[in-house]
Amino acid sequence: PINALQPLRLLLLGSPGSGKGTQSERLKTNFGVSHLSSGDLLRKNINQHSVIGQQAADFVAQGKLVPDNLLVSLVDRELAQVGGGNWLLDGFPRTVKQAQALDKTLDRLMQPLNLVINLEVPEEVILGRIMDRWVHIPSGRVYNLSYNPPRVHGLDDITGEPLSKRPDDCPDVFRVRMQQHKVMADPLLNHYSKVAITVQGNTSDEIYPQIEREIVNRLGLLPGAHTTST
Ligand code: ATP
Ligand code: MG
Repeated sequence: PINALQPLRLLLLGSPGSGKGTQSERLKTNFGVSHLSSGDLLRKNINQHSVIGQQAADFVAQGKLVPDNLLVSLVDRELAQVGGGNWLLDGFPRTVKQAQALDKTLDRLMQPLNLVINLEVPEEVILGRIMDRWVHIPSGRVYNLSYNPPRVHGLDDITGEPLSKRPDDCPDVFRVRMQQHKVMADPLLNHYSKVAITVQGNTSDEIYPQIEREIVNRLGLLPGAHTTST
């Protein structure tokens, strides 16, 4: 059963490859939360050659941050669609400017954040993960050939569609993404210093129970099986 006294409005922060997508999948299953991932949204737009996709493609390919205004309007649109339910944001905000814009949007929607979780995974663990990572672009589901392989090699478990390698998951571009992250991480954490907590571990299996505990203890939500459309 779920005791929805307070809907979940969660930000997941953390370096590239820290497992935000994996944790989001689990939270979606256990708390029925809508998962809004800026990276997944951008990749979908790039694949579909939408206007936003065309504007973002070069930045994403090079591992650079896409301009704030583009992200802000993309995420605003998604949040408006989610309505009053539980949601979590993964990969947004990435800059203090984006965080300030999000504050305004959430004020307007009267949906205050109630949890910010910062994932901390050692950098030497992350590079290995990234090289083994495959994704199902339409859904954002992530697989790892060594510890979370798809049931059928190269295919998404749910849809059976082909998996792809993210072009920015190569060592050179990954280095740029990590660099970008390091510049922005502290200012962003400072922005949320009053609500943010940090969880650490080498694996997503180590980290997930810590996240769940925070949600249960702070918000009184109870995990259970859920299915949602996003
Ligand atoms: P991971 O998916 O492993 O956590 P990541 O956080 O680097 O890695 P995504 O969040 O998928 O990857 O983002 C991929 C790319 O999309 C980024 O390198 C950047 O170009 C762009 N991007 C995503 N979110 C934002 C954002 N909030 N602001 C600016 N650019 C963004
Ligand atoms: Mg991601």
